[in-house]
Amino acid sequence: MKRDTRLIHSGQPRRSDDLVNPPVERASTVVAPSTAELYNPTPPRRHYGRGGLSPNTELREAIAGLYEADHVALAPSGLASVILALRTALPDTPAGMQALITDSAYGPVRRFCDEELPRYGVTPVYYDPRLGGEIATLLDTPTALILLESPGSLTFEVQDIPAIAAAARKAGVATVIDDTWSAGILMNPLELGVDYAAQALTKYAGGHSDFLMGSVAAKDEAAVRLKTKDVLFGGHVSPDDAYLCLRGLRTLSLRIERSGASGLAIAKALEAHPKVSRVLHPGLESHPDHALFKNQFNGVSGCFAFVLDGVEARESEAMAEACDLFRLGFSWGGYESLILPCDRQIRRTAVDWKAEGALLRLSVGLEDADDLWADLAQALG
Ligand SMILES: *Cc1c(COP(=O)(O)O)cnc(C)c1O
Repeated sequence: MKRDTRLIHSGQPRRSDDLVNPPVERASTVVAPSTAELYNPTPPRRHYGRGGLSPNTELREAIAGLYEADHVALAPSGLASVILALRTALPDTPAGMQALITDSAYGPVRRFCDEELPRYGVTPVYYDPRLGGEIATLLDTPTALILLESPGSLTFEVQDIPAIAAAARKAGVATVIDDTWSAGILMNPLELGVDYAAQALTKYAGGHSDFLMGSVAAKDEAAVRLKTKDVLFGGHVSPDDAYLCLRGLRTLSLRIERSGASGLAIAKALEAHPKVSRVLHPGLESHPDHALFKNQFNGVSGCFAFVLDGVEARESEAMAEACDLFRLGFSWGGYESLILPCDRQIRRTAVDWKAEGALLRLSVGLEDADDLWADLAQALG
């Protein structure tokens, strides 16, 4: 089946065959009729809340359908899901190794790498997101894992995922990707050779800015390891949030298509605006990685950034505050449009971030694209 069909049909309830949606089971305890059944249920049955009741099980199945994965773990936030993937990917005895982290990784993930990886004896080494297959030259040093994120946070560099994954496989190094931008729907990193695909479901999958959650998907041997570590680390998400997420997933394809189309139209209008020097949107032909992007992705999301020519951060903040429809806030991928002045957040160590002015990020929502452009145009004015 094609992706959109899988997105609708995977994870539909099996326990009750007369309801379209799964029930929300708020439960820790599952009782058994006898001690024998409690300890050795035959056939195997659910035995405790942490193992996942409904709709957590159905949500995991739906995400597995999206990625064509063999196992999906849920985490209480997107950040927690990337960290779960990193901890799962770490080899059993990682002391003395390096971890290769893309320089455009999400800020809080960077902070985890800097502050926590050393506690495992692992040194984070940041690499140019545009390195591609040449990452092989860094793999002569014992390497615990490689973290990718494409397009990268804030600066939207596109990575050559197949080339990096192939180099990692050859060297026997595990790969993790933060796949939040594609939401697992604009590309499938597992198909491109990545071992663990993490995603902040908080963003597009949820789509309504009303909960936080993350997932990690994996296939084959990586899926076996993920399943083991997931049980070991004790992660769990609330069934109410799982229900909202599953509900969001059903319309993910439509929402991201609309958001992406409006975003691309706004990106083009910004590109033509005299106060804008650069638009960092991988779907634009002017983007340096556009060709690579077209090879790997089947569409665009509505999240991108632009540079205000010769403008200082303070002035860009005034422009953002002058918007009406675009509201100031972290996060993205919701139905509502957001704008974020980014200069206070950008941190790079492998490649300097150089720009002609201040950087602003947009998350284009589901409003009418003409109204959104009118709002930005008046604020630019
Ligand atoms: C928002 C975000 C996260 C973290 O998600 P939360 O649910 O807010 O913890 C991780 N990665 C990327 C790329 C993000 O944009």
